[in-house]
Amino acid sequence: MILMNDVYKTYANGVTALNGISVDIKQGEFVYVVGPSGAGKSTFIKLIYREVKPTKGNIVINEINMTDLKEKRVPLLRRDIGVIFQDFKLLPKLTVFENIAFALEVIEESPKKIRSRVMEVLELVGLKNKARFIPDELSGGEQQRVSIARAIVNNPKIVIADEPTGNLDPDTSWGIMKVFEEINARGTTILMATHSKEIVNTIKKRVIAIEDGLIVRDEHRGEYGYEI
Ligand code: ADP
Ligand code: ADP
Repeated sequence: MILMNDVYKTYANGVTALNGISVDIKQGEFVYVVGPSGAGKSTFIKLIYREVKPTKGNIVINEINMTDLKEKRVPLLRRDIGVIFQDFKLLPKLTVFENIAFALEVIEESPKKIRSRVMEVLELVGLKNKARFIPDELSGGEQQRVSIARAIVNNPKIVIADEPTGNLDPDTSWGIMKVFEEINARGTTILMATHSKEIVNTIKKRVIAIEDGLIVRDEHRGEYGYEI
């Protein structure tokens, strides 16, 4: 489902972020990506939804070979991948409902279908009663729940989260992790870059550690492995 074979990424400024990465992640896995700042975690994650292209090496996502993927087919690939960011990236002038409905409007679902699906995901993230709020009226944890709802509304096979609890207090972070576990229990693959030692060492999952652009550890039910 996510396959990388000897992947390198050197940015235009000459910085090499990834130095020969190989990985095989199966449907339904829950994977933490850990490592020091600047190690290449975000680059690794961005390769999966084609925010970044590899300099060398082969990547296959959901049976789609990214090496010969035409630009016009990128939106199709992204439809199967939900992305969640540390800073939420919600549209500030749209309501919670509208922020989530957006992805379904793009693919021209019927208004009836949109309404039922948006309310379904809002229920899953525990925000059914906030559909008419705008992001500014919500707490950080609630805004992250909205961004999770937005990421899963299309039923993607993969959910990618880059430090999703980075801006949240510990209590709120545990609530967000419950939502990720629920989504994973429904068969969705989850890839989450994190600096939270507490989360990784408590909710045990596969751990991939990246240092200096290389995978230095790949363990089933692994440990965080760093002091901070
Ligand atoms: P992490 O997510 O582990 O902090 P990144 O993948 O963001 O690591 O960064 C890895 C390296 O690539 C760092 O040295 C960073 O400065 C560099 N880098 C990241 N993005 C870019 C970019 N767009 N252009 C140039 N260098 C970049
Ligand atoms: P937290 O304890 O998670 O930081 P807050 O104290 O920010 O939460 O918010 C608590 C509740 O108050 C939330 O349910 C949120 O929707 C509501 N709220 C916060 N700010 C506003 C606002 N500016 N307008 C309306 N409701 C708000």
